[in-house]
Amino acid sequence: MRKKIVAGNWKMFKTPSEAKMWFRDLVGKKPDTQAEAALMVSYPTLPYASEVLEGNDVYWGAQDVSAHLEGAYTGEVSVKMLADLACKYTVVGHSERRSYHAESDALVAQKANRLLEYSIIPILCVGESLEVREAGNHVAYTLKQLKGSLEGITPQSADHLVVAYEPVWAIGTGKTATPEDAQAMHKEIRTWLAGRFDLGFANEVRILYGGSVKPDNATALFDQPDIDGGLVGGASLKLDDYIALLNAAK
Ligand code: PEP
Repeated sequence: MRKKIVAGNWKMFKTPSEAKMWFRDLVGKKPDTQAEAALMVSYPTLPYASEVLEGNDVYWGAQDVSAHLEGAYTGEVSVKMLADLACKYTVVGHSERRSYHAESDALVAQKANRLLEYSIIPILCVGESLEVREAGNHVAYTLKQLKGSLEGITPQSADHLVVAYEPVWAIGTGKTATPEDAQAMHKEIRTWLAGRFDLGFANEVRILYGGSVKPDNATALFDQPDIDGGLVGGASLKLDDYIALLNAAK
């Protein structure tokens, strides 16, 4: 049985103080959920996450990491720093990083490898644009992106890897993939992972869906056999919506 994850991607929203209050409210409400709660927050918010969420069954992580271990890389944040703040997860290859910062599959793979070296679980994002989807090339495109982004990762190093399928046309747009379309892609990803690693590995990998997940569409998505929860932007910022998403992930 794969435990579902509802991972919030807070992007560049909420100041650290706002986030700290939100964490306290979440912990105070003690959501009774079968899913794992995880919040991917801004770097300056991470110390508050570890302070307030530790021991409360809510996990945290960053939205990116440097591919370098340390050195003269102004503005970057290393995996050692994230490990020091007890990050369990960290997002790599989000489409906003891929498009606004021209991140290649090779760079995403370096970042994922770095995280795994430090026992932080990468939430590795892949997904096609609208143009690719309309041309009917979404499966080939997404699997190629996945292949490139997993370069150098072995079954031994990839323990607990999480993949997020996020069709770019559905992120922050209010358009969601239908549960059937999302399920079809997740199945393709799992089948491909079985070939790249092995069947046991593929059966354990959690594959999250992301793209305008909201409380009113989450149940139908999360009920699909190969959808193991969500990576959620907008709806994860509101406490009641986030709790509703946790409840939808049975
Ligand atoms: C995301 O940021 O990864 C995302 C899926 O955003 P939204 O839920 O707002 O579409």
